[in-house]
Formats: sequence, C-alpha cells, structure tokens
Amino acid sequence: FDKQYGQIWLDGTIVPASSANLHVLTHGLHYASAVFEGERVYDGEVFKLTEHSQRLARSAELLGFKLPLTVSELDEATRAVVKANNIVDGYVRPVAWRGAEMMGVSAQKNTIHLAIACWVWPSYFTPEAKMRGLRLQISKWRRPDPQTAPTQSKAAGLYMICTLSKHQAESEGFEDALMLDWRGQVAEATGANIFFVKGNEIHTPKPDCFLDGITRRTAIDLARQRGYQIVERAIVPEEMANFDECFLTGTAVEVTPVREIGPYSFTPGAVCRQLIEDFEALVRRRPAVEKVAAA
Ligand code: PMP
Repeated sequence: FDKQYGQIWLDGTIVPASSANLHVLTHGLHYASAVFEGERVYDGEVFKLTEHSQRLARSAELLGFKLPLTVSELDEATRAVVKANNIVDGYVRPVAWRGAEMMGVSAQKNTIHLAIACWVWPSYFTPEAKMRGLRLQISKWRRPDPQTAPTQSKAAGLYMICTLSKHQAESEGFEDALMLDWRGQVAEATGANIFFVKGNEIHTPKPDCFLDGITRRTAIDLARQRGYQIVERAIVPEEMANFDECFLTGTAVEVTPVREIGPYSFTPGAVCRQLIEDFEALVRRRPAVEKVAAA
C-alpha cells in the first residue's frame, strides 16, 4: 500500500499512506458529507491547481462547511505532498469530510478533515490509441435537478449515481456510460463532460446540472483558438444521430474520442485529433503544433 500511495497529507501532516486512517463513525462515510477533487500532475506540476483548489472550497461551501485551509494554503499543501512523493506524471486526490464526533443527520460541530493523496499515473494512451474511441452505454440513472442536489458541488454523494451507471456499463462490456439529466437531455459521462462535432461547430450541453469541468473549459478555449464555433445548448438523445465526432473531457480522460453511444455511432476524426494534440501541448507546456491533418 505504502509502495503505491507513498505518503498522504492528512490534517496538516504528511504520513505514510497506511497510517492515513479515519474512524468508522465518520459522518462523511455515513451521510456523504464529503467533497473531493481529481487533479493531474504533468512533468511535476499540477495542471490548473488553483482552479481545483477553488472548486474544492466551493464544493465544501455548497455542503455547508468550510475547509480548514485557504485556497493558497491548499495549493501549497498539494505541491508539498506531490514533491514528497516525487510525482512526475500522476494524479492528486484531495478530499474533505465531516468527522466522527456526532453521529446523526445533523453534525454541525463535527471537525472538518482534509487529506491529499497522490500517486504515479502516467497518461496511458497514445493519441492513436485514444482515436479508436470509447463505447458508451446510455445509463438508466439520470443527473438530478439542481433543486434536488447541489449539482455544482463535486460532492461524494453525487457519485453514487456515477458508480451505479459505470458498473452497469462495464458489466455489459462498455467502457463508460452517458447519463441524461432529469429532463431527459444529454448530460455527461460518469466522470467527464461530453462534446459533439458537426462540421465547424462543436455542440455541448449547458452545465446547468453537472460540473462545468476544468478540462471542459480548457477544451472550449482550445477549440475556439482553432476557429471552431462552440454551441452550448440543450441536446436531446435523438440528435446524437446527426453528429460526426464525439469526445469526452475530464482530468482523468483528458480529451478522449467516443465511437459509440447506445444506438449512435461516431467516427473520431480531425477535430478530436487536433484537440488531443493541442491539449497535450498545453499540459506539457509545449507550443501548439501546426494544424493536424484529417484522420
Ligand atoms: N463530470 C464529472 C461527474 C466528473 O467527475 C468530472 C471529473 N472531475 C468531470 C465532469 C470533469 O471535470 P474536470 O474536467 O474538472 O476534471
């Protein structure tokens, strides 16, 4: 365990992973009063670290608690633990939760804990491997109405729906699931946002009941720089028949094409390839290359 996870930052100290433990009566475990982040380290630096730290603080606020660290202290603690573990290409997982003092729905006075773990996690897939595209199942579970849950929070509780959807998809041979929202409109994958390409336009659902991903915003900027027109709007599932390319964006998947969603199919092509290349150049802090040729 310590070999894989090294050391973890826990409530102000860096400890061996195997001793970063918590109590079984933790409120965060019983009532999902927990928020987290997922971040990537490229060449020793966390990509968009401050945006992630800000989102963690905002996620906590939406669940009614305050992190024990400020955003800049959180940035600093994250850099310290990445450094302590000598991570060059890796993943960072900060998590904050209500502690174990009061066991009940109400836990106003429970201590807020914070941990930051990280581990080695290279980008496994070459652009060529990514261009094969993922196969997604359409989940029966839907993203909830923002009046039902704080959907802009990266809250642990909201991931119950994602795990149910992903497990179902995997057990039926798919790589991931597309979730619709409570209105029946296209929302997102279980840990990533979704985009569709039609000619020079790139359509993506408005993030009004799911995370407006940091990678999503990055991909939008990169696409605009290449002259594509971004259209944020409501997309109904039947419309998926009319798009040429489709891709997911997220810290874990980066930019990854999709070739199938339920009965709809897509052909990963020039737009996906261009964005994969531009994203890679950005995170590796290399200049963007010439426009890539059609796939
Ligand atoms: N939606 C969900 C459900 C996610 O878990 C993630 C990953 N954090 C995203 C979208 C994409 O967000 P980001 O690009 O900030 O990783």
